[in-house]
Amino acid sequence: MKRRFVFATHNQHKVEEVMAMLNLAELEIVTLKDVGISDEIIEDGKTMKENAWIKANNIRQKVGGNIIGEDSGLEVDALDGAPGIFSARYAGPQRNDDDNIEKVLQNMESENNRGAQYRSVLAVWYDDHQYTFEGIVKGRLTKERIGSGGFGYDPIFIPEGYQDTFGVLPPSVKNQISHRFKALKQFRKMLLSHLS
Ligand code: IMP
Repeated sequence: MKRRFVFATHNQHKVEEVMAMLNLAELEIVTLKDVGISDEIIEDGKTMKENAWIKANNIRQKVGGNIIGEDSGLEVDALDGAPGIFSARYAGPQRNDDDNIEKVLQNMESENNRGAQYRSVLAVWYDDHQYTFEGIVKGRLTKERIGSGGFGYDPIFIPEGYQDTFGVLPPSVKNQISHRFKALKQFRKMLLSHLS
């Protein structure tokens, strides 16, 4: 029997990444579009964990069943963890990746400490139980955009142990080391323990 999850996001990139990473035949992941939900979910939590649960609970109330909520973002050391929960709308409500990158680069212009990390928090409803999983990938910020792959801040983020940004590294590499992958790995393990 297939386990069906509704993924509480309008971000198609995330859906694709998650589907590629989970890669379980027993699993069916449908999007908000598939269940006819188009309205934005208001994310007014103070942490990524709170926002992940706001998304998961909002959709759970609407459609019930198994739900995946995810919140993620970039945390820059020299900016005291910003943009953090504001990653998607750092430069304004238009949620534009280029504008967001520009703002980070400007704020970091004369900064030598380039340390940063991506964080991903998953809020999961599965068989009426709640689970939270978290993953981090550490790295550093470039001084300009390099590459055009990925999404969000990927063209200015070099993961630890690599010389290229996530905008240059192929998805097959990103999807094995990313914050989202690390959180999903724990989710996958939990699922497998229930499926066997
Ligand atoms: P969310 O959809 O509210 O979770 O917003 C997450 C935001 O964080 C995205 O819009 C990006 O700006 C940033 N972000 C999260 N994960 C990634 C990633 O894997 N690559 C690049 N940017 C990311």
